[in-house]
Amino acid sequence: MPLLNDLINLDFGETTNKIIAEYIWIGGSGMDLRSKARTLTGPVNDPSELPLWNFDGSSTGQAPGDDSEVILRPQAIFKDPFRRGNNILVMCDAYTPAGDPIPTNKRFNAAKIFGHPDVVAEEPWFGIEQEYTLLQKHVKWPLDWPVGGFPGPQGPYYCGVGADKSFGRDIVDSHYKACLYAGINISGINGEVMPAQWEFQVGPATGISAGDQLWVARYILERITEIAEVVLSFDPKPIPGDWNGAGAHTNYSTKSMRSDGGIDVIKKAIEKLGLRHKDHIAAYGEGNERRLTGRHETADIHTFSWGVANRGASIRVGRDTEKERKGYFEDRRPASNIDPYIVTSKIVETTILWKP
Ligand code: ADP
Ligand code: MN
Ligand code: MN
Ligand code: MN
Repeated sequence: MPLLNDLINLDFGETTNKIIAEYIWIGGSGMDLRSKARTLTGPVNDPSELPLWNFDGSSTGQAPGDDSEVILRPQAIFKDPFRRGNNILVMCDAYTPAGDPIPTNKRFNAAKIFGHPDVVAEEPWFGIEQEYTLLQKHVKWPLDWPVGGFPGPQGPYYCGVGADKSFGRDIVDSHYKACLYAGINISGINGEVMPAQWEFQVGPATGISAGDQLWVARYILERITEIAEVVLSFDPKPIPGDWNGAGAHTNYSTKSMRSDGGIDVIKKAIEKLGLRHKDHIAAYGEGNERRLTGRHETADIHTFSWGVANRGASIRVGRDTEKERKGYFEDRRPASNIDPYIVTSKIVETTILWKP
């Protein structure tokens, strides 16, 4: 359909200064992304220039039918890789008409924590490794796996190349480029241990922006898999048995950890995380118990551990960090289906604000 292709790529900026703003928000499950578009006068450079908007919360499981209006507040903007030009993606959070955050708005509390002067002074950085699985649209079985069967055992697939080892690379690479275009600080991608499972990393990103960027990167991936007619799964253990689960390892540092002698600050932070292990696990994703088994490069969900270069520990400190006695560490417990607003703010709350 050549004409349709021409029109979808139409640069309407040639004849008007109007732009399309795609307002994105998190739906009622806490994992589903929703979006709708509106015309505005452009260009727009800051979310504060954007109007509030609303949606029908009774259709997303976020409000009762008799009082269904939910208010969207623009919080972060990105360039739109689908419409290009001056068109934008707008990450929003959601409020009742009275101005209270609705229950699925985890950004509100996170922004409060990141706004605390002690936290601001520490300039917390995050690098989140988002793992995900691509599924065949109608059978919900991993992409290019034989329907009703399995590929050969794990081993050749991690960072693998070749038609029998790498399934879905065009989607992954399209997403990588689209994120860079949008202005997301995506730091890399790689094929994972389970075939049809992939990872992208967002970071380092400071404070609340890590959550904003990860959510918009997920949104872009949903849109690209939609075009490819492939289903995107963030299930922490999509295939039971001898197949790796999917996580969202969260790499973290503060200004003091990145400064000389930061290793002592890192050790104190890890100790505090250990004291609150149960609390953190409860916030680290639904179904994570199916993934954190102590096998497949995970630590058992019930025990907290840390180690240098240990991929079987809850927390891993890298060799470089040990050698330079400063740097960052990796919390390996978060599942692929985390809300990054919850996880990043909880880590900061425990390691910076909590005084045991
Ligand atoms: P892994 O070796 O566990 O696979 P990755 O390379 O996939 O790690 O991801 C590491 C992430 O940590 C990247 O997004 C990177 O940008 C981020 N990162 C690097 N330095 C820091 C730091 N000082 N603080 C927080 N995150 C960091
Ligand atoms: Mn990684
Ligand atoms: Mn990985
Ligand atoms: Mn990792």
